[in-house]
Amino acid sequence: MTDTIYDLVIIGAGPAGLTAGLYAARARMKVLLLEKAVPGGQIIVTDWVENYPGFPEGISGYDLAEKMKTQAEDLGLKIETAQVHSLKLSGDIKEVVLKEKSILTKSLIIASGASPKKLGIGEDKFMGKGISFCATCDAPFFRDKTVVAIGGGDTAVQEAIFLTKFAKKVYLVHRRNELRATKILQERAFANDKIEFVWDSVATGVDGFFGIEGVHVKNIKTNEEKTIKADGCFIWVGILPNTEFVKDSVKTDEFGFIVADAKMQTSVSGVYVAGDVRDTPLRQISTAVGDGAIAAVSAEHYIENL
Ligand code: NAP
Repeated sequence: MTDTIYDLVIIGAGPAGLTAGLYAARARMKVLLLEKAVPGGQIIVTDWVENYPGFPEGISGYDLAEKMKTQAEDLGLKIETAQVHSLKLSGDIKEVVLKEKSILTKSLIIASGASPKKLGIGEDKFMGKGISFCATCDAPFFRDKTVVAIGGGDTAVQEAIFLTKFAKKVYLVHRRNELRATKILQERAFANDKIEFVWDSVATGVDGFFGIEGVHVKNIKTNEEKTIKADGCFIWVGILPNTEFVKDSVKTDEFGFIVADAKMQTSVSGVYVAGDVRDTPLRQISTAVGDGAIAAVSAEHYIENL
């Protein structure tokens, strides 16, 4: 246990956490941001961001994350690499338990984001050997090859379009006959000759030994099954909240996303939430940034009244 008692500890250095950190640093709070991996969150693996205001030509997710991190650090935010193991939230002073020490804080913002959902079709066996969740990381391995992308949301459609810069053919397998993705992405995907849609279908398994050779697909309306010959399989079927360390300490919705009020206050006083890990109707960089700002200001007001 360290003797220092922080005003605020933030967990997670995606856009929500970095924004909360920026606001807290400017408010001259004694703040520490904990990140288990590389700062930036999911946008680091986003090839191109064109719906974040202020960048009319768009910006790479990596560059945007770097800018957010630099801006927050320049304003005084301290970022430490550490994985949070658990939280002890009873009492005015909260305890953030890491592997080898605990950190004490008067307030806490959980901005730990979300991770891609798995389908159970061989992800563990073939991860890095043909199955991937990250086009930015792995698309270059599939130059002039055939790949299958699974999902119909913004991620699947945006990343399938990105895959066509490398692959000669992308099959987009979706369980309905209508995409969930935003219309502008749909228009681009429909206009892309390299993308072939496989509607009303789910992936049931993969073929391969050292790598992927094919993806088994079943049409859920006709029950027809087929194997699409492919060298890679990208899975984008939604996200799960990163809340392993939270357990039952704050209230969550049925899917595990943390519930909060308009001030980002969770069910525990002094504990706030921001970004994709929150139970929210929209998950965008712009909404994560807004959450982070609100959460930081709420935490500031909270500790003023302690
Ligand atoms: P999402 O919006 O939840 O979409 C998941 C997709 O996977 C849906 O089309 C869903 O089908 C399908 N799916 C879910 N479970 C499945 C299963 N078991 N088998 C087969 N298909 C399954 O998730 P996302 O695309 O990862 O996006 C996550 C959040 O980030 C969203 O809020 C999204 O708007 C946001 N995002 C935004 C951008 C952007 O603004 N450019 C980019 C990426 C992500 P159904 O449609 O039938 O439910």
